[in-house]
Amino acid sequence: MADKVEKSDAEWRQQLSDEQYAVARCGGTEPAFTGKYWNHKGVGVYRCACCQNELFSSQSKYDSGSGWPSFWQPISADCIAEKTDTSHGMVRVETVCSACSAHLGHVFPDGPPPTGLRYCMNSASLDFVERSA
Ligand code: FE
Repeated sequence: MADKVEKSDAEWRQQLSDEQYAVARCGGTEPAFTGKYWNHKGVGVYRCACCQNELFSSQSKYDSGSGWPSFWQPISADCIAEKTDTSHGMVRVETVCSACSAHLGHVFPDGPPPTGLRYCMNSASLDFVERSA
């Protein structure tokens, strides 16, 4: 498991773009079909935009039709932590980076086999690196 990364708000603000900061550090959501990765098909690894913790392989990315990058499983069992999110009158499972606690998105039980999970992520919280499979 990646080492814990702790930075002050001021440090995150300096390191990240305004959109990355709003989404990853403040729990925001980018509008559907606007992020840089919802329709991205490269082969490689999606890392946390804040701390570079590896989160998803392109091998588990699929087109959910939602307008957000969607995956059916994380790259390892412990790279993502889950929290209950009761905002907006819904009960959802929020996903955060296990190393730096960045808000990534939510996970829903309506994904494809073999997991049946849909990790619905924000492009703003991710950083893609090309890597041969
Ligand atoms: Fe992180």
